[in-house]
Amino acid sequence: MKTSETMKAPTGTKLTCKGWQQEAAMRMLMNNLDPEVAENPEELVVYGGIGKAARNWESFHKIIETLKELENDETLIVQSGKPVAVFRTHAHSPRVLIANSNIVPAWANWEHFYKLESEGLMMFGQMTAGSWIYIGAQGILQGTYLSFVEAGKKAFGTADLAGKLILTGGMGGMSGAQPLAGKMAGAVTLVVEVEKKRIERKIKEGYCDYLVEDLDEALELAKQFQNKKEAVSIGLVGNCADIFPAIYKKGIIPDLVTDQTSAHDPLNGYVPHGMSFEEAISLRKNDAKQYEDKAKGSMAVHVQAMLDFQSEGAEVFDYGNNIRAYAQEMGVTNAFDFPGFVPAYLRPLFCEGKGPFRWAALSGDPEDIYKTDRLAKEMFAEDESLVHWIDMAQKMVKWQGLPSRICWLGYGDRHRFALEVNRMVASGEIKAPIVFGRDHLDSGSVASPNRETEGMKDGSDAVSDWPILNALVNTAGGASWVSVHHGGGVGMGYSQHAGQVIVADGTDEAADKINRVLISDPGMGIARHVDAGYEIAIETAKKKNVHIPMLDN
Ligand code: NAD
Repeated sequence: MKTSETMKAPTGTKLTCKGWQQEAAMRMLMNNLDPEVAENPEELVVYGGIGKAARNWESFHKIIETLKELENDETLIVQSGKPVAVFRTHAHSPRVLIANSNIVPAWANWEHFYKLESEGLMMFGQMTAGSWIYIGAQGILQGTYLSFVEAGKKAFGTADLAGKLILTGGMGGMSGAQPLAGKMAGAVTLVVEVEKKRIERKIKEGYCDYLVEDLDEALELAKQFQNKKEAVSIGLVGNCADIFPAIYKKGIIPDLVTDQTSAHDPLNGYVPHGMSFEEAISLRKNDAKQYEDKAKGSMAVHVQAMLDFQSEGAEVFDYGNNIRAYAQEMGVTNAFDFPGFVPAYLRPLFCEGKGPFRWAALSGDPEDIYKTDRLAKEMFAEDESLVHWIDMAQKMVKWQGLPSRICWLGYGDRHRFALEVNRMVASGEIKAPIVFGRDHLDSGSVASPNRETEGMKDGSDAVSDWPILNALVNTAGGASWVSVHHGGGVGMGYSQHAGQVIVADGTDEAADKINRVLISDPGMGIARHVDAGYEIAIETAKKKNVHIPMLDN
């Protein structure tokens, strides 16, 4: 069975499927597994521990084959990465409907998931891995930059982190955005990563500046650059559960502390301390139970060090991997004393329907993305931080796979922008269709009580009707593909979330769909936050005429 060694999505304007929506789904699936994009493509793993794009290679090839034959009024049904049926629907329906990793709530834990996975019945879809809209580390870069900047504003009253030290963990698929995001924010960023080759990869990709193997050397280097107020990033090979407490013992208190190791998965994500990396991997294979216990124990040590930094004045936050829950399970009763990044910094943006919107150029030509960059800068010229973001991204982000751009846009702006792009595709200014999508970590598409919906004003953190409704309305509106997942970001039992992708192929039909989906999708974010009682959301709904029946009088 062919593996991913030479996987490259086709580019250019020649269709290999019967329509651009099928073609886009096919190219984006292949792009997810491009070795430049995916963390472990041989195993179909895209990012986030074992977040996969397809169940196995047989399923992958069958999905591609089916997409090539799929008519413009048919819909392919994908169950946890396996193509299970094709039905006749209609031209305005999604071409693909995807459900990943969903388990009836009382069974929704890692143990049961791994049982199903070992029997070949399921895969872990993470968020954008199994929904075919992962674009490499850039996908989280702007959100990470925004989080660092907002943390800086809150802690030090300034968005400029020059001379400040950020300490964090993990340099994998998404976590690998941290060194560059910290640099963009002006800070010195020290990232502890247990696997050396992950740091080497990020250096090659231009996301990290230095690789160091000795703690004292790393701290000395950080100090030098802090003194010069020079923004650099340093990858230190080591385990967070060893390194964080060691830094604390030396009396060094970083300004910002967070972590983005794959703690959501104690078996195939987080690596326990007290042994070499190789020993850990061998234990994972030979004794899963002992491995998990040791991983959770290490998370407790890791989180305790974060709490210690917090008590000494550092700004500490959880960066969306559920590490606090596992530490609490292991006896760190006050693990939730430091907040998650959403309630701490990002919720006001969610209230305006803003989130990690993104697009990719199916032509494969970076010039198409530069044209969209120019358009965004023109259309949103008054938004200084957006313009600054695009300038920085152009300078600092190297392409991975199909050229793409992440840009946090909100309700009202997403559809206006996509319609203009659709017009440019129609006129030939942009060579081939543009695919618009977003992370499931968005304003109205996720229920995740330890992350996106932590500490909701009305206590509705665990209500997962919202992501289901989000998927339903995007299906009704005619997104090109729609997905409903479980467990992304924080692990089994902790989240439910939905994704949508829509293709601007230059047709009037695409414009109609954009006009529905890119209004209702961020609109669901406003509705969700209005319902929870957030003033910003209520004001936004009124100002932008989002029809919320309970606000009518
Ligand atoms: P990944 O598996 O690609 O990378 C995680 C990295 O952590 C790996 O390189 C691994 O070697 C390293 N690691 C594991 N245990 C370690 C330890 N004890 N010490 C040091 N390094 C260790 O995963 P990813 O895509 O980078 O995602 C990381 C986490 O972030 C996941 O839990 C994911 O669910 C979460 N996530 C958060 C957001 C967000 O917006 N906040 C978005 C996507 C993913």
